[in-house]
Amino acid sequence: MTAPVPADVISRLKAVLGPEGWSQDPARLAPKLLEWRDRWAGETPLLALPKTTAEVAAVVGVCFESGTPITTQGGNTGLVGGQIPMGEVLLSTDRLRAIRETDAVDDLLVAEAGVTLAAVHEAAAAVRRRFPLGLASEGTATVGGVVSTNAGGTQVLRYGMARNLVLGLEAVLPNGEVWNGLKRLRKDNTGYDLKQLLIGAEGTLGVVTAAALKLSPVMASRAVAMIGIESPAAALRLLARAKDATGGAVEAFELMGRLGVEFALKNIAGTRDPLAEIHPWYVLAEFSSGEPGSAEAAMERFLAEGLEAGLVRDAAVAQTDGQAKALWAIRENQSPAQKPEGATWKHDVSVPVSRVADFLTEATAAMQAFVPGARIAAFGHIGDGNIHYDVLRPDGGDDAPHAARRDAGSRIVHDIVASMGGSISAEHGLGSMKAEEARRYKSPVEIEALSAIRRALDPKRIMNPRVLF
Ligand SMILES: Cc1cc2nc3c(=O)[nH]c(=O)nc-3n(C[C@H](O)[C@H](O)[C@H](O)COP(=O)(O)OP(=O)(O)OC[C@H]3O[C@@H](n4cnc5c(N)ncnc54)[C@H](O)[C@@H]3O)c2cc1C
Repeated sequence: MTAPVPADVISRLKAVLGPEGWSQDPARLAPKLLEWRDRWAGETPLLALPKTTAEVAAVVGVCFESGTPITTQGGNTGLVGGQIPMGEVLLSTDRLRAIRETDAVDDLLVAEAGVTLAAVHEAAAAVRRRFPLGLASEGTATVGGVVSTNAGGTQVLRYGMARNLVLGLEAVLPNGEVWNGLKRLRKDNTGYDLKQLLIGAEGTLGVVTAAALKLSPVMASRAVAMIGIESPAAALRLLARAKDATGGAVEAFELMGRLGVEFALKNIAGTRDPLAEIHPWYVLAEFSSGEPGSAEAAMERFLAEGLEAGLVRDAAVAQTDGQAKALWAIRENQSPAQKPEGATWKHDVSVPVSRVADFLTEATAAMQAFVPGARIAAFGHIGDGNIHYDVLRPDGGDDAPHAARRDAGSRIVHDIVASMGGSISAEHGLGSMKAEEARRYKSPVEIEALSAIRRALDPKRIMNPRVLF
């Protein structure tokens, strides 16, 4: 727990924020101090609610001068604990809610940090554009959070992660100075890129106050299919064919094991088995195109050729938006559907795409040896080599012994990932949860270089002090 914040610092913070700009009301604080899975419960002496970039700068300035730690929070949907304060001042972006600009010529949208991803999608649609980054948490996750965690999602295969979708940033640096880097340039080769340092910094290098986001054209055709397959190896061969069939226009290519589909059928109301027969694995594929009818035609061709090659066992193609939504719901509910099943070790890992099938085989053999009867629910963005590899306690077993072995079990999974040149955090970040574990897999040279950058920008280590290295 962070050391108590002196009363005079709290008074100065209240003064710069004004009466509407802070709270100590336990009822108002409660939802911000609890992580959505109840995994972390935090504490804060003050919730700061700045309304403008200048107010953010004033708060950070007071904290810098007095050496007071701050944790920044957006929508509180992060999965690695980075947004939950443990005694630090909690700076919320709740009131930074303006969409400052949308421009369909420069194809950009400038949004303040507290704007939700769903509101960005709506504002982009209003100028016949879209922001191609979708998350199941998009109704609550904010621009500041998405940028600061370098979020991914289901469309990374085609559009990249947040890092590829940000043209410029405005941020308050740890010393309280405002950096206006809200550029709208597609090319800017002028040395180190401060924007890219802040993206994925998980709040350790400053507070992002606004971002210029890159927009894409709206697609004229879209095809969504659920495909029953034999194995992850078949999924990889199909992925290569999907890229060929669309000239690289694969919008999403998601893998799911049967067990995860069964959890959704059992635990998520309204879920229907997508195909008549049971298959060991499934791929949810989405193609899109600027040309009317083209995505549907490409999907039809791709599935017919896949059937002929023996890679597709069966497939259902959505005929309506409602059907597409129902297929996507099975994928998006993979994680929520596990909740009633008891203790789980969750892993958000990536390996080179070519090694996904090897990883699943090796990790599953190791987990079955470590916890006989463990239920493995593996799903994720196979096109990015990113698998959410979840190890649930045996059916009917107790939660406590399974939870107690989490660290040892995760170490086995992470070592396999590392042996394949992979990453122990593909898209969720390190937060306070995985920072120590990540030290095992990064070289001392890299950790020292990264720590030196942090020391240079935040010599007092006031920004999200428990996060990263
Ligand atoms: C159901 C569900 C599905 C999800 N799916 C995905 C997925 O597919 N891909 C994926 O990548 N993530 C996913 N996530 C994780 C999460 O939604 C993302 O990490 C999201 O980007 C976090 O945004 P947020 O506003 O909630 O940030 P928070 O949770 O509030 O914060 C996350 C981190 O960013 C920092 N931060 C927040 N705002 C700022 C700011 N303005 N300036 C500086 N630092 C800041 C915080 O300090 C913290 O370290 C999912 C989460 C849930 C609950």
